[in-house]
Amino acid sequence: MEEETVSTKELEGRVALVTGASRGIGRAVAQRLARMGATVLVNYNGSLDRAMEVVQEIQEAGGRGEAICCDVSDYGACGRMAEEIIKKYAHVDILVNNAGVTRDNLILRMSEEEYDKVLDTNLKGAFNTIRHLSRYFLKQRGGNIINISSVSGVTGNAGQANYSASKAGLIGLTKSVARELAGKGVRVNAVAPGFIETEMTQALPEKAREAAVASIPAGRMGTVEDVARLVAFLAGKGADYITGQVICVDGGMTCA
Ligand code: NAD
Repeated sequence: MEEETVSTKELEGRVALVTGASRGIGRAVAQRLARMGATVLVNYNGSLDRAMEVVQEIQEAGGRGEAICCDVSDYGACGRMAEEIIKKYAHVDILVNNAGVTRDNLILRMSEEEYDKVLDTNLKGAFNTIRHLSRYFLKQRGGNIINISSVSGVTGNAGQANYSASKAGLIGLTKSVARELAGKGVRVNAVAPGFIETEMTQALPEKAREAAVASIPAGRMGTVEDVARLVAFLAGKGADYITGQVICVDGGMTCA
């Protein structure tokens, strides 16, 4: 983890749910929001051990956090997670929809299962959490939703029809819910990372990684901190008048 001082505790008293936070971008986001003072609920679906590592890192840095298990693609489970959070904390302020999967394949080879798995997790997962938490945001007259999309959802990407569709869908979801809830004090934005160094991208063949890096004007892959800094900004006061936006953090990949 890159050690960086966060000078303000502007999220003190806030409760943040970060989905898929036991590794990668979600982990960096969880740690950064905790350093800003938020109590962070580290959602995981697979490994409790890894989620607990993140919680421990948060606590060792003087922050507050807790692991919370839920498969975001399960509508009912997301409802139960929302109730559990409200029962314990009475409010929830920030939702970062970060959980995501890939099942890359060319369209002629892509199975129905590969398509459904990606859409169910990346797009329906975000619908599920937003659907269940929004009623609390409305009651509180405040909330902040940040959806982790992707440049693949902005430009499309060969071999990723399912993933790109899910990430483009997230952009539509972001803009629509932003319009619905802006008058009620709820902001909704999307962050579209480019090519970021995580376990997700480590799984790519070396040739594909080299080609991807060659397409980045900045000449390097992004780090999880590059993304976490933007999410933290959107979660904070400085972004009070920003809603319905899609912000790329991609080293210039999507420059027109
Ligand atoms: P990652 O694979 O390291 O992390 C994804 C996390 O989501 C994992 O912890 C995983 O367990 C969790 N997850 C998967 N399915 C889940 C489910 N059903 N319920 C709860 N959690 C679930 O990937 P990452 O690179 O850190 O990506 C994080 C997000 O950023 C994803 O949405 C990804 O699509 C997006 N993104 C990543 C990149 C990149 O280059 N790494 C680029 C653009 C967008």
